[in-house]
Amino acid sequence: MKKIVILGGGESGVGSAILAQAKGFEVFLSDNGALQEKYKIELTSRNIPFEEKGHTEENILSAGEIIKSPGIPDSVPLIQQAKAKGISIISEIEFAGRYTDATKICITGSNGKTTTTSLLYHLLKSAGLNVGLGGNIGKSFARQVAENSYDYYVLELSSFQLDNMYDFKADIAILLNITPDHLDRYDHDFQKYVDAKMRITQNQTPEDAFIYWAEDPVVTKEVAKKQPIARVFTFSEHKADNVSAYADNDQIVINTSKSVFTMEQDLLALTGTHNLYNSLASAIAAKLLDIKDEKIRQSLSDFKGVEHRLEKVATVRGIQFINDSKATNVNSCWYALKSMKTKVVLILGGTDKGNDYQEIEELVKTKVHALVFLGVDNSKLHKFFDGKIGTIVDAGSMEEAVTKAYSLSKEGDSVLLSPCCASFDLFKNYEDRGDQFKYWVRKL
Ligand code: ADP
Repeated sequence: MKKIVILGGGESGVGSAILAQAKGFEVFLSDNGALQEKYKIELTSRNIPFEEKGHTEENILSAGEIIKSPGIPDSVPLIQQAKAKGISIISEIEFAGRYTDATKICITGSNGKTTTTSLLYHLLKSAGLNVGLGGNIGKSFARQVAENSYDYYVLELSSFQLDNMYDFKADIAILLNITPDHLDRYDHDFQKYVDAKMRITQNQTPEDAFIYWAEDPVVTKEVAKKQPIARVFTFSEHKADNVSAYADNDQIVINTSKSVFTMEQDLLALTGTHNLYNSLASAIAAKLLDIKDEKIRQSLSDFKGVEHRLEKVATVRGIQFINDSKATNVNSCWYALKSMKTKVVLILGGTDKGNDYQEIEELVKTKVHALVFLGVDNSKLHKFFDGKIGTIVDAGSMEEAVTKAYSLSKEGDSVLLSPCCASFDLFKNYEDRGDQFKYWVRKL
């Protein structure tokens, strides 16, 4: 019997362990950090052996196959040793994909994955399909394959997951955009990151579909190079030749050649150009799955949005507070600023990921009248913005940031938390940062 070793005991690892056990494999799970209590209880109750706070090499290197958490880089010595021994190393998605015939709609991109995945899931579920939601979001895909029998899955895939996928195939692949991110995991070679993202189309056949953003220079170049085999559908902000979905005269138009779908753009629940893309991409997929037009219209307009992504928190004395804590890179802040219809007090800062603030300089100059830098080390932000914007203040805590932003804003303004940075200097994660923002706004 083949032994499966699972490295990393988060939701994807524990889900893989459950599925591997159900398929009759000998299973061992190993994590070099501490496991969450709920996972320890679950593994113990299922008699799945595991270790935490360290790896036992001989236990791992005797594996027939390793399922690796997306958080573990290939460069760690244990993975190198396993590779040298010829052990197959795969991701949870690759493993679970072997055990389901469901139609898989997979979404990747540098920004917009969670929003689009959640929106498309909402579209399909509201239309009555028997559909599961997985990947980087919610319950793991592997757990659901073990415990449910869905006919469809909407899966959010990161580049790290795609890295260890080989035979898996997406029936519908959506590639939202590619901008530099996570380059530390790709030897600072952008092309390696691009190649990982393009794996979303691997193994596709002419019956499958590939949906991508027609205006993305990186993706279009790759498409020209690789000539995808699947049927291709594209979306863009404006009508153009051979584009399947776009906005035109206040309407959104989806033309997948089955029939033409239209809807008033004002009725879309998600606002901003970036969210127009997310809505168009989701609508193309829904059309390809034969969801009725009125269902698509309804779901695109009643979607509640995703927490921490341009989330409207409250309006206090005519000042709107918006939580975009998930904007952990400069590009997503650019889209947030672009979607703002009012003057803005922007809260940004945190753990810098090699940011280049030039990308947002123009928008900051035109829309922002005060900046609040929220971070342990704001020196890089000062170096870039000092002298360019009238008012700049520092804050060392969320309470201070919210209070200062409030006092700097006027009726009709928006206070936007869209940090451009990771959150680890002052917060547990971006959720904690967004939650604290909401807490202090509600205290005003
Ligand atoms: P991901 O899961 O890829 O990190 P999210 O849906 O969580 O993406 O959105 C993260 C941030 O990226 C949001 O705060 C938003 O400002 C921005 N964003 C969302 N969709 C897009 C898009 N299609 N293009 C560019 N930026 C986007």
